[in-house]
Amino acid sequence: MLQAHGTTSALCSGRQARPALPARRPRAGSVQVHATVAADKVDGRAVRRSLNKTGRYVRKPNKDPKSNELMEEHGVGYSSTGLVAQMREQDNLWQQGDVTVKLAKAYGYCWGVERAVRMAYEARNAFPEKRVHITNEIIHNPEVNQRLRELDINIFEDSAKGKDYASIKEGDVVIFPAFGATVQEMELFRDKNVEMVDTTCPWVAKVWNSVDIYGRKQFTSIIHGKYSHEETVATASFADKYIIIRDLEESNYVCEYILKGGDKEEFLTKFKKAVSKGFDPEKDLQRVGLANQTTMLKGETQEMGKMFERTMLSKYGPAALGEHFMLMDTICDATQERQDALYEITDDPSIDMMIVIGGFNSSNTSHLQEIAEHKGITSFWVDSAARIDVAGNKLLHKTGWGELKETTNWLCDGPLTIGITSGASTPDRAIEEVLDKVFRIKDPSFAGVAPKECAVVGVPEEEEEE
Ligand code: SF4
Repeated sequence: MLQAHGTTSALCSGRQARPALPARRPRAGSVQVHATVAADKVDGRAVRRSLNKTGRYVRKPNKDPKSNELMEEHGVGYSSTGLVAQMREQDNLWQQGDVTVKLAKAYGYCWGVERAVRMAYEARNAFPEKRVHITNEIIHNPEVNQRLRELDINIFEDSAKGKDYASIKEGDVVIFPAFGATVQEMELFRDKNVEMVDTTCPWVAKVWNSVDIYGRKQFTSIIHGKYSHEETVATASFADKYIIIRDLEESNYVCEYILKGGDKEEFLTKFKKAVSKGFDPEKDLQRVGLANQTTMLKGETQEMGKMFERTMLSKYGPAALGEHFMLMDTICDATQERQDALYEITDDPSIDMMIVIGGFNSSNTSHLQEIAEHKGITSFWVDSAARIDVAGNKLLHKTGWGELKETTNWLCDGPLTIGITSGASTPDRAIEEVLDKVFRIKDPSFAGVAPKECAVVGVPEEEEEE
């Protein structure tokens, strides 16, 4: 549980590009698929295909207008009439009295997150009489999850003992969240005869396809990610042999081991929670393919790929590289785009302070706050407008190093230019509510921004998955 530490007084000191849908072809130089599966491997691809045959499995939005309306009303989709929608139409800028607001070029909901929330609303609408469950938080945003609970959707929380799905009965509806579900969960729900709504982002499914291909080629999957993150847990369940590597330091350690060998016991202790059962670094690092958790830094994943490529090149020579290293392009740009946009906005000398909005458990939002702090800009990270006290001109915010702080007089008198951004699980409404409070602090007579019909955010068409 997070605690507030200390109180300080502040020293008054186009809409993002949506990612194109996943391309299906491996990157030039990577190897083609051969459909052979080790006998003892759970065939994740076959399990996913078997879901399709049940007649109880949905994996795309149905664009039902009633759900769209409810999402608008609840403020859990893209803004189409509010302040953010209006800012989109004027170069991400807003002037309210003596406050100038500059919204980062890439911010807020990524395509996959909005799609998942939409599918959850559609599931509720399609099955009004049925009990509906989600195997995890749909996304890392407390307000969106709360809205779903209010729609009588049961969210299974993780616990030390894991999850107990015994309460889910035949005929119920089970939603898989944006970051997916494990192969074992898919099998369980297929066999429980429930209705399945799979909101897994196609970019995540693309990573699953990669590790499946690596397994069929008897390659070990190197997964760049955090071993406890739900998405990585799901990805690992599709892999045959795998090792999960968190950062470049760990990557370097593994590459050194491949080249020079080392202490096997130390290796297995270091990665004890991050390797497949029976993993043997002597045997299982001879043929490796790289995959990633989609919220990791794109540049870091690319660097990791280069590290392993160089390592295999050095160990086996150029002629045999294809037998020892595979790389498929599975990087989603959404996280990187938000960070690049933050670097850009914090380079703007007119910005007096930043506000970063996103769930306190959202790792991509924490990176945004860290960047602002590293650039030396006063930056306040809040998860919702509820953290801001208008009458007291104070707020409870989180720092990049995880401390909760209360700051008073955070908005000073006189002209102020604020930069604003939000994490990939944050709906536009959260930005609008925070700015509403900012404007009320600066001008007690502020009566809100009038809604206005704006262009709807375009999303890419769904593609058929192989
Ligand atoms: S960040 Fe994750 S959920 Fe969003 S588009 Fe990328 S893969 Fe999909």
